[in-house]
Amino acid sequence: MEKLINGTAAAGTVRFMAAITTEIAREAVRRHQTSPTVSAALGRVLTGTLLLGASLKEFDRLTVKIECDGAVKGITAEADMHGRVRGYVKNPHPELPPKENGKFDVSGVIGDGTFYVIRESGYEIGLHREPYVGSVPLVSGEIAEDFAYYLAKSEQIPSAVLLGVLLQNQEPFVAASGGVIIQMMPGANEHIITMIEDTIRHAPHITTVIKDGATAEDLVKLALGEIDFEILEERAVEFKCNCSFDRAVSLISSLGRAEVAAMLREDKGATMTCGFCNEIYTLDERDLQKMLDAEKVEDKVNAT
Ligand code: ZN
Repeated sequence: MEKLINGTAAAGTVRFMAAITTEIAREAVRRHQTSPTVSAALGRVLTGTLLLGASLKEFDRLTVKIECDGAVKGITAEADMHGRVRGYVKNPHPELPPKENGKFDVSGVIGDGTFYVIRESGYEIGLHREPYVGSVPLVSGEIAEDFAYYLAKSEQIPSAVLLGVLLQNQEPFVAASGGVIIQMMPGANEHIITMIEDTIRHAPHITTVIKDGATAEDLVKLALGEIDFEILEERAVEFKCNCSFDRAVSLISSLGRAEVAAMLREDKGATMTCGFCNEIYTLDERDLQKMLDAEKVEDKVNAT
């Protein structure tokens, strides 16, 4: 499986996180059937979300949400401490001609809007605390710059953020995807900062090296150059949603007895599509009948 690493350099004054996400972006594109420009946008957001969530602990969840006025309308991605990430775009299909430099016009499909980061804890065990929500206006719509701006403004961490998705014309449409974030912690000295900025400025594009087989560690080397670093944590990452057939069943039974009976009578079944991963769950007559027989479905006649 693909890997996410995080660690420190320069006596702890520099922090980094890096990941290869080619398989993750492929899975997202396969599930959501996104146009090329939207595939690039979604892949970058999924990667950035995983990187921001690199030090999540058990029961933590991190969501990045972009609300925007461009054709894509919005992008949401969510990561947990197990390296699972899932995400979707509101409108997967808009496409624009490439920019003059031949790159996908990601900022064109995003437009103006707001970049949100939501950190939650304990949601799975019923110990839900008030989530932390940070937000900044979108400054570029190219995603990496927006992550950097959020980190600088909202979390006061000056950061270099490199996110890249390389596409190809045939399946699987993603040829390479990944990212690295370098953060300057208090006490980082000017010389180190200048060295890193210089290294990044002269580095090859990350998707070029990922396509050639670079690992997450190689991405850190690409950004830090000669500076020694130490990997503190490593986790496997994948595109994985927490929806399931059982969850679809409990969602449908929560609609109430009358509604379930009507579905059985009129539609002879029910289908549910997960908004996050586009998985379709089909319940047949037997499943609905079982629900009614189990009497787990509450009578909702007076509920409203
Ligand atoms: Zn799902």
